[in-house]
Amino acid sequence: MRVATLNGRLNVLVGGGAVDVHEASGGRLPADPDRAFEHWDRLRDWAADLTPEQATPLNGQRVGPPVSRPRQVFAVGANYRDHAAEAGLDVPDDPVVFGKFASCLTGPYDPVTLPSQAVDWEVELVVVVGRRAERATAEDGWSYVAGLTVGQDLSERTVQFSSPVLQLSLAKSSPGFGPIGPAIVTPDDFDDPDDLRLGCSIGDEVLQDGRSSDLVFAVPELVARLSAYCTLLPGDLIFTGTPTGVGAARRPPRFLRPGETLVSWVEGIGELRNPLIARESAS
Ligand code: ZN
Repeated sequence: MRVATLNGRLNVLVGGGAVDVHEASGGRLPADPDRAFEHWDRLRDWAADLTPEQATPLNGQRVGPPVSRPRQVFAVGANYRDHAAEAGLDVPDDPVVFGKFASCLTGPYDPVTLPSQAVDWEVELVVVVGRRAERATAEDGWSYVAGLTVGQDLSERTVQFSSPVLQLSLAKSSPGFGPIGPAIVTPDDFDDPDDLRLGCSIGDEVLQDGRSSDLVFAVPELVARLSAYCTLLPGDLIFTGTPTGVGAARRPPRFLRPGETLVSWVEGIGELRNPLIARESAS
């Protein structure tokens, strides 16, 4: 199943079109995308019977972030060996976790304002939690996952490295610094949800191109390790980390520029296309 937020409403994507869940279910299922997880199993059963004839074209509808009011947004640092190496970090023994504040979330095609000239890209596979997890085991890890989506963990590197302790959460939570989408795809929709190619580019310039099979802590392991400390709640997001190729690791560094469009993708899910714009006061 693939679900998306169209004009603020929960939709299931079927054969190139979309079905409005609340309308088509005669009001039995919610219109609010953030309430989908309370009804996730019922939604999946119901969606399994939808046919392309029931779908309407997507044209002109605004595609919003598939989750817009998560209670928690976790992000994992240094979770690909080659990215840890380019950042000069050892591979950690336990996931290194920070938060992205939920107000940074934005839609897959929304413009993002660059607050400075040191904003960097980090394409990431993002986990959407489907049910409450406390001390889950890795063996059961996937059963807590509603689905996967594409995310960008946009990062202001001057702020990030401005203090003796890494200032990660603030550096990664400016408005628009968390584009996600374009859909949530359930794990059963992939041949192998543990091995997905992901990357990002600007025009012809490939910035990152990796595989989620290279994650140090894979999705089920992250569910287990995070839920050993915190309770994971339906609708929570986990940004799982970025592969090699960030701009800050280049010599000279290469950061995002106004006028560019950042395209980020994960195999089997789709792509984000975020135009980058200058803050009026910046230059
Ligand atoms: Zn990241």
